[in-house]
Amino acid sequence: MSAPQHQSSIDLATRLKVNARSCTVAARRQLSPSLMEVVLRGDATSLAGVPGNDVMVLVNANDESSTRRRYSVRAVDDSADTFTLWIAIAHDGPGARWAKSASEGDTVDVVGPRGKIPLDESADWHLFIGDVASLGTFYRMAHAIDAPGRAIFIVELDDPSDALTATFDESLGVTAIFVDRNARAHDDSTGLMGGLAAFTLPPDEGHTYLFGEFHVMRELKVALMDRGIRSEQISLKAFYRIGQANGANGEPSKDI
Ligand SMILES: Cc1cc2nc3c(=O)[nH]c(=O)nc-3n(C[C@H](O)[C@H](O)[C@H](O)COP(=O)(O)OP(=O)(O)OC[C@H]3O[C@@H](n4cnc5c(N)ncnc54)[C@H](O)[C@@H]3O)c2cc1C
Repeated sequence: MSAPQHQSSIDLATRLKVNARSCTVAARRQLSPSLMEVVLRGDATSLAGVPGNDVMVLVNANDESSTRRRYSVRAVDDSADTFTLWIAIAHDGPGARWAKSASEGDTVDVVGPRGKIPLDESADWHLFIGDVASLGTFYRMAHAIDAPGRAIFIVELDDPSDALTATFDESLGVTAIFVDRNARAHDDSTGLMGGLAAFTLPPDEGHTYLFGEFHVMRELKVALMDRGIRSEQISLKAFYRIGQANGANGEPSKDI
């Protein structure tokens, strides 16, 4: 028997034409200094959508109010009816606090699937650029690449031991460049720009996915276009914006 679903989540899901469900926390474990894994149970297949999708989770903003935070799905286990989230926890915010305190058996309102950036199946190669917050969705998307594809990851880490690896089919060509943040600010693009500059882009037609901090992702898009990548080959999603909490809809502010 599932816990009652918050009426506002049902209304939101109806408006978005997606699902609303009260999920149960099936497990939680710290993967690395900056990443927490939370496994949720309930309607996993329909909530988790396709690789690249995320879910909205209703968390406590403070003692009196709640807010929604969006987390990409790392993996789905249809037979166990569970899906996994990888959540960055090195900052302070309602989402990070929820991820650090969730206990097995807790219930949480989830709305999903959300997101408009699936894998570009026509691409010869897939370049994923981001930070620890995007590592989970990058791995899920890369698992969906048809053989004999190519995945390149350029990911900035808050701590060297955040370099979590994944196992892929041997027919997938994988290049992973982990960039140490070296205590630079999260809106400083130096590290990822350096990682990108050091990489020779393959000659055929690829697609780039930029998921991460608002300013850094914008600067990377300009750098990619300077190197001849067309804008239709780039999918950008700001996950957060440094110095500003995401809104109650889970989105970072887009104001300049
Ligand atoms: C479509 C989408 C998918 C996302 N998927 C994931 C995911 O799979 N995993 C994940 O960890 N995050 C993901 N995010 C980002 C996550 O929703 C935001 O980081 C969220 O704001 C965190 O909420 P919070 O309540 O912890 O912090 P907030 O209240 O939003 O922010 C508090 C402060 O912390 C800073 N901050 C927020 N997030 C980070 C961060 N990651 N690193 C450093 N500083 C930060 C903010 O700039 C602000 O100053 C996604 C966002 C979107 C829009």
